[in-house]
Amino acid sequence: MAETKKIQPDLSFIRGVMAAGGDTVNKCYQCATCSVVCPLSTEDSPFPRKEMLWAQWGLADKIAGDADVWLCHQCGDCSAYCPRDAKPGDVLGAIRINAIKHYAEPKALADLLSNTAGVLGTVIAAFVVWYIVAFLWSLHTGIKFPFPDGEVNYHHYFTFIPIDIVVLPIVGLVVWASYKGVTNFWADISKGSGIVSYTGTGPHPPLGILFTKYGIPAFQEILSHKRFEECGQTAERAKGHKLLLWSFIMLFIVTTVVFILNDIIYVPFLHEEFTPMPQWNPIKIFANIAAIMLVVGAWLIIKMRKQKTAEGVLKSSEQDWILVWLIFSVGATGIAAELFRLMNIGGIAYPTYILHLATVVTLFLAVPYSKFAHLLYRTTAYVYQRYEDDMKAGKAGFGLEVPVNPVGPPPAEEEKTEESEEPKEEKS
Ligand code: SF4
Ligand code: SF4
Repeated sequence: MAETKKIQPDLSFIRGVMAAGGDTVNKCYQCATCSVVCPLSTEDSPFPRKEMLWAQWGLADKIAGDADVWLCHQCGDCSAYCPRDAKPGDVLGAIRINAIKHYAEPKALADLLSNTAGVLGTVIAAFVVWYIVAFLWSLHTGIKFPFPDGEVNYHHYFTFIPIDIVVLPIVGLVVWASYKGVTNFWADISKGSGIVSYTGTGPHPPLGILFTKYGIPAFQEILSHKRFEECGQTAERAKGHKLLLWSFIMLFIVTTVVFILNDIIYVPFLHEEFTPMPQWNPIKIFANIAAIMLVVGAWLIIKMRKQKTAEGVLKSSEQDWILVWLIFSVGATGIAAELFRLMNIGGIAYPTYILHLATVVTLFLAVPYSKFAHLLYRTTAYVYQRYEDDMKAGKAGFGLEVPVNPVGPPPAEEEKTEESEEPKEEKS
C-alpha cells in the first residue's frame, strides 16, 4: 500500500505569488508543454512545470530549495505555448519576487523598496538627507549654501568626507544583507538537491576552489548573456540587459579607481582632490561611456517591456518597472548633472546633483531588497548548477566526491500520495 503523507500548503506563500503577478498559477493542468518548449530548461531538471505544481500546492519549502526558479529569464516562450494561458514565465517571476522578500533582512526594507510609493519616499528622504549634509558641510567649510559662488564644482560642495560618512554605512548594510541572503539561499538549494554542504550539517567545499572552478565560468556565461540570447519571445531584451550589466561593471571600476585616488592617495597625501576630472581624462571618458550605456540599456528594456506587455507575451510587475525606471533615473540625473556643471548653471546643477546622489543611494540600497537582488540569486544559481552537476557525478573534488544523497532531495515531510504523483515530462 502506498505511503500517505499530508501536505501542508503555505497559504500565505500562494497569496504572495498571486499578488506579485502569478495570479494565473491555478490555471495550470500539468500538461508539461512549458518544460518542453523552455529553451533554458535542462533534461535532468526540467522547469517550469514542477514549479507550477509546487506553487499551486503552496509548497514554499520545495520552491525555496529549487535553484531552477532562478535559471528562468522570463523570456515568455513557455507562456506563449501554454494551452491554459497559465503564464508560467510570469508565475516564476512572481515566485522570485517572493523569494527576494523571503531572504531579505530586515524585511521592512524589502517591503519599503518593493512598491512605488516606498521607492519614491526613499528617494525624497535621501534627497532631504543629502541637502542637510550639504548644509552642515557648508558650515564647516564656509562655502555658500545652497548655491556656492564661482564655477560649479560638486566637490567643493561635497568632498569625499561627507559622502563617505553617508554612503559607507549603507555599503555595510547592503554587503551584510547580500551575504545573509545568498548564504541562506545556498543552504536551501543544497538541502533541496540533497547536497548537504553549507547547510551546517556537512563539510564545506573550500571557497577558493568553489570560486575558481564554478564561479568564474558562471560569471563568464553571465557576462556573455548566452542563455538570455536563447530566449525566443523576448530575445531583444538581452541587448538592453547586457548594456546595463556592462555599464554597472564599468561604473563600479570608475568608482573604485576614484575612491582609491581621492580617498587614499590625493586627499591624505597631496591635500587636494582628483576630481572633477577634465573631459579628456581616460577615466572620465570611460565613465561617460558607461553612463550613456546605462541610460540606453534601461530605455531599451522599458521599450521592450511596454511592447511585450501590450502583445500579451510578458507581464511586467510593479517591481519590474520600479527597478528599470530607478536605473534610468540614476543614469539620466548623472548625465544631466554633468551637462549642467559644464554649462555652469549652478541653480539647476546643484539640485540635480543632489537628486542624482539620492537616486544612486536608493538604487544601491535596493540591491538585496528589490528585484535588483536577482543579480545575487541568479548568479548563485548559475554557480550552484555547475557545482551540483559535478557533485552528483562525483567529479567535484573537495574530498566530497560522493554526495550525501546522490539521487536527489532527502525525503520531504510533505510527500504526496501515490494518486497525486507528479507527471514526468521529457525534454525533446
Ligand atoms: S504549459 Fe505548463 S503551465 Fe501551462 S498548463 Fe501545461 S504544465 Fe501548466
Ligand atoms: S519564461 Fe522562458 S526561461 Fe522562464 S520558464 Fe518560461 S520559457 Fe523557460
